[in-house]
Amino acid sequence: MNWSLKIARVAGIGIYLHWTFLLLLGWLYFSADTRAAGLMIVGLVVAVFACVALHELGHALTARAYGVRTLHITLLPIGGIARLERIPQKPWQEFWVAVAGPAVNVVIAAILLAVIVVLVIAYGIHDIAGVRRVGGVLLFLGNLLLTNVALVVFNMLPAFPMDGGRVLRSLLATRLSRLQATRIAANVGQVMAALFIFVGLWTGQWMLVFIAMFVFMAGKAELQAVEVLAVFQDKHVRDAMTSGVLPVEADAPLEQVGEAVAAGYQHDFPVVKEGRFIGMLHHAAIAEAQQQHDVIRSAESLACRHCPILHPNDPLATAVQQLQASPCTTLPVLFEGQVVGLLTSRNIVAWAAVERARHEQKKGETRVLEAPQPNDAR
Ligand SMILES: [Zn+2]
Repeated sequence: MNWSLKIARVAGIGIYLHWTFLLLLGWLYFSADTRAAGLMIVGLVVAVFACVALHELGHALTARAYGVRTLHITLLPIGGIARLERIPQKPWQEFWVAVAGPAVNVVIAAILLAVIVVLVIAYGIHDIAGVRRVGGVLLFLGNLLLTNVALVVFNMLPAFPMDGGRVLRSLLATRLSRLQATRIAANVGQVMAALFIFVGLWTGQWMLVFIAMFVFMAGKAELQAVEVLAVFQDKHVRDAMTSGVLPVEADAPLEQVGEAVAAGYQHDFPVVKEGRFIGMLHHAAIAEAQQQHDVIRSAESLACRHCPILHPNDPLATAVQQLQASPCTTLPVLFEGQVVGLLTSRNIVAWAAVERARHEQKKGETRVLEAPQPNDAR
């Protein structure tokens, strides 16, 4: 974790403090009118961020109950972030993970309120002596109580991907598809972000503008990730692979391969020996051998034997992950030892674009088709 120092480890989760937070504390201390006021405000901010850390632990520990690990918790001047390894896919799980954070602040606020009531009853603040005794403490606790209430209200605003936005998405996802739910929640979130920016600029609260920028970018990124996943859902390697692949024989000289590259659109070639696949000849290897004028070498000697091998019925989402994790730019698709296709990131991107356009078109069509249905029941 760059720019952060580890301050604690709770239930196996590292809690980090971003260095800008220390800057904030210093600034608050030195811009206060008196030393006492400076200490009061620094103490209050530290206490508030302890509450924020507990809020994040609320998310993290609830996520753990669903088998989702938390990589770390980071406290920034604009708030805390619990970095979960993934967002639970089941709507109610996401709901409870999102609600758990603000629920912690509700509990803290309730405890603070009880303490304040006990102090007021025990010491009384109806006379000067009573105020002298506990006035400062009450002021501190009262401020902390109000801040916790504000944390609950602010976090529960439907500004996806903030907690309230996640609650909205998860509730929508119980009725709609995850993609539709995310689209609506992200759109509401963008409106909220615009509102935050407006209010932030109007009142000079730069923190709010920063938070709005975070909401804007993080919401967009998460929507895109869900869109990509939705396109791959229920799809297989056979849907996105390029078929009609030109193989090269194991003993083919490099010169012949060079001619094949020049003649067509294929960049990488499966190498076959007696009809069976033995390895992939990647474009980079061909280019390198050509540069070295290594024309006599055979396709077999240059073939890569470490490419993950795909099956036409493999889930596309897993195949894409394999492709991303592998140094090989093209993966062979084999059926009973025979090469039936190739999968490259380039053809996945092209396929996904066509598929997304088809999704959009289909949505338009169903809307048109749904309308005349009652007349069809003649
Ligand atoms: Zn939260």
